[in-house]
Amino acid sequence: MGNKTIYLDHAATTYVKPEVFDAMKPYFCEYFGNASSIYSIGRESKKAVEEAREKVAKAIGAQPREIYFTGSGSEADNWALKGIAAAYKKKGNHIITSVIEHPAILNTCKYLEGEGFEITYLPVDEDGLVSLEDVRNSIKDSTILISIMFANNEIGTIQPIQEIGAIAREKGVLFHTDAVQAVGNIPIDVEKLNVDLLSLSGHKFYGPKGIGALYIKKGVKIASLIHGGQQERGKRASTENIPNIVGLGKAIELATENMEKYNKKLIDLREKTIEGLMAKVPYIKLNGHRTQRLPGNVNFSFQFIEGESLLLMLDMKGICGSSGSACSSGSLDPSHVLLAIGLSHEIAHGSLRLSFGDENTEEDVEFILEEIPKIVSRLRDMSPLYEAVKNKQKV
Ligand SMILES: *Cc1c(COP(=O)(O)O)cnc(C)c1O
Repeated sequence: MGNKTIYLDHAATTYVKPEVFDAMKPYFCEYFGNASSIYSIGRESKKAVEEAREKVAKAIGAQPREIYFTGSGSEADNWALKGIAAAYKKKGNHIITSVIEHPAILNTCKYLEGEGFEITYLPVDEDGLVSLEDVRNSIKDSTILISIMFANNEIGTIQPIQEIGAIAREKGVLFHTDAVQAVGNIPIDVEKLNVDLLSLSGHKFYGPKGIGALYIKKGVKIASLIHGGQQERGKRASTENIPNIVGLGKAIELATENMEKYNKKLIDLREKTIEGLMAKVPYIKLNGHRTQRLPGNVNFSFQFIEGESLLLMLDMKGICGSSGSACSSGSLDPSHVLLAIGLSHEIAHGSLRLSFGDENTEEDVEFILEEIPKIVSRLRDMSPLYEAVKNKQKV
């Protein structure tokens, strides 16, 4: 007891920043009006929603009318895929994605396969990158959509989004990107990147959970996922979640203002951690691209140990990390992302993701660089496989 908590799981979720919470507060008890109502507290709500929409649009280089609020990042992903599939099914039934997408994309693709759509799952190389040649070669007459994530939630690899977008545009195919890990962490301009649809989520950049948005480029047709009233210009029904929308707007505004400073800090913490662990711990492998990766992402595989045991021992020291992703750690299957970059089941099981955030410090890094090597060697001392390797070396 008495340990300070060092939270290193910002890729799973973040805390809500006090400024964000303060901005949200008046919209619970005071300005609770329905944004569709005529009276003044309703107008206050409507105004707050439109101001938040402008902030989201500005952060990604879009027009406010191209931003649609959703109940989460997962909903934005579902809407992009199912909505485009339904709206363009007369044109074709083929969708291209990658094997390392978030389950919100992969399981939606599985669903669409059951509805008669054909999905191509592009492989990735050992760094987690899709090949532009593969993207180009897999496009056919029936292709209606390419959906490739901006940055991977487990290994942090950032895809060549602008280049993929350029290929899609040249071929007349729509391009969606799940940018849930990227927004708020790296600069994004949908116009420059040739993106037609983009998903984002508030709780990955110090906003509240249960709010996301889908950018839909002007002119792109999309079927609705939620039918009902005329909210979100008739495209996404349900009474607006005003506090969460306001929180999303505030969070994205703060993230954009502080991007440069924040990036530099995270990269510094990431690099110190990567270099420190490589120097101190033998038999480890860095997963994901060495440089083309999210500023705060570190992902290592440790030979001869179980990721789950490592996490439990880290937890005893107050360190919160993740093995693979939050979404897969409920199951015993190794991460589909780690398998896709070529790791064996055994190595994939001994993986650790640390994702840095705003409140982390150099002292946090020093502490984990003390603790992780100790924990790893303690766990390895219990491993018969490691024993065998050590004995071989002595000879
Ligand atoms: C977290 C995450 C999602 C899901 O967002 P929610 O708002 O939690 O539904 C989708 N894609 C990626 C890449 C994510 O990291």
